[in-house]
Amino acid sequence: MRWAWAVALMLMAPWVTAAELRELRLWEGPEATRVVFDLDGDVKHALFTLSDPDRVVVDIEGLDQRALARLNAVTGKGVVARVRSAQRGDAMRVVFDVNQPVFATGFVLPPSADYGHRLVIDLASPQPTQPPAAGSAEQARGAPPRDETIVVAIDAGHGGEDPGARGPSGLLEKDAALRIARKLAKLINDTPNMRAVLTRDGDYYVGLRERVNIARKHQADLFVSIHCNAFTRRDMRGSAVYVLSERGATSEHARWLAQKENAADLVGGVHLQDKDHELAAVLIDLSQGATMEASFDVGSRILQSMAKINRLQKPDVQQAGFAVLKAPDIPSVLVETAFITNAEEERLLASGAFQASLAEQIFQGIKGYFHSYRPRQQTVEAEAEPQYVSRNALTSERLQAAEYPKGISR
Ligand SMILES: [Zn+2]
Repeated sequence: MRWAWAVALMLMAPWVTAAELRELRLWEGPEATRVVFDLDGDVKHALFTLSDPDRVVVDIEGLDQRALARLNAVTGKGVVARVRSAQRGDAMRVVFDVNQPVFATGFVLPPSADYGHRLVIDLASPQPTQPPAAGSAEQARGAPPRDETIVVAIDAGHGGEDPGARGPSGLLEKDAALRIARKLAKLINDTPNMRAVLTRDGDYYVGLRERVNIARKHQADLFVSIHCNAFTRRDMRGSAVYVLSERGATSEHARWLAQKENAADLVGGVHLQDKDHELAAVLIDLSQGATMEASFDVGSRILQSMAKINRLQKPDVQQAGFAVLKAPDIPSVLVETAFITNAEEERLLASGAFQASLAEQIFQGIKGYFHSYRPRQQTVEAEAEPQYVSRNALTSERLQAAEYPKGISR
């Protein structure tokens, strides 16, 4: 029974299981500064804010004392001016001196992918700390009124502590995706009557559902998510375009890829308990069939356009259950620009010239789509029949199969 004693001792002795702080990371986003404690075990925490001066206090139980030196060496970022810490009874008190009043929320994330246990503290500003990534500056400059402007939401995949896939020589998907997204946004913003909204415009994570919400808030006419493909087989290469499928993916790789992309929320640190009431936001929408058809249309135009500068992984638009494509009323596509796990395509993805060509070809596909398939309100005004030129002509059965999910899978 000696083992039983050992187990009992371990349960009674918290110092045995004190979690070590591996790293404290700070990410600055437009609406919040995120603090992430990287830990090798579970901890308990209590969180509160104080004013005069403004500060956020986190008491952490079960944290190894060696964390003190590491915490006190961290430099501030975003709203955090300074980090201080001290042992206080059984807990370690960590104080974040903030340069404005903040709304603080904390949650823990279980281990996933490259990460172990994490304690995440989000410090949201009552007012954004910087102008939002969206084109509000452009609106202020007197852009055409909403009904004349086509709004394209451009979503750079991953970001912040979620690097996405990694190339053999170290290029990160989050960086390549953001560079291409910004180039695409510029092309759109330089076009009369078109406006781009970036779901993120910096190195921070935005939840998959929040990316869709940003697009909806700006009444986007199209949602384009930019990623780099990845696979364990380093010889896989080529560009691909995906639309949503709830009834199974078009290939084994598509299913693998969707699972990998959907795991971004676990890596990027979305508070999973929030998912439940998001279910209510996803309703079966009667326009879903038309939205899917439009998604296929713009998807095949982008694919054909990209074929001019890179080989295609598959000649047709692919389908899989990507969480980021789940806006029932906005045509949505996910562009896997090239394989970052392929050495040659990683080199291409790192080059500014290739990023610009990708942005240009994606833009050409988008322009072609809007040329023949105007946004809803304009279609109604002109009383014109939308033209369907998709190579993936949908049968009504297939449209039904693409019907909206009964709920979010996660
Ligand atoms: Zn990705």
